[in-house]
Amino acid sequence: MVVTVLAIAFLIIIGSVAYFGFKACIQRAPDAREQQVEKCAICRKKFDKAEMLLREIGDYKLLYFCRECVLKLYADLGLKN
Ligand SMILES: [Zn+2]
Repeated sequence: MVVTVLAIAFLIIIGSVAYFGFKACIQRAPDAREQQVEKCAICRKKFDKAEMLLREIGDYKLLYFCRECVLKLYADLGLKN
């Protein structure tokens, strides 16, 4: 009888550990997706890395520019000439 109770308690512990571990994995998934998001160097808005232009400044600094800001810069250049 005692063995049965212990076995059930053990199963509950294992089950809850597995459940919370699984839950933690699910909650970690959006973080992985968030790493694909980068701030624009000009407007500081967050965009998907795939939608942005990456430029290396100097030896190490990487700057991301969003499409909106690049088009704005292009328009500003057009106004100058
Ligand atoms: Zn921008």
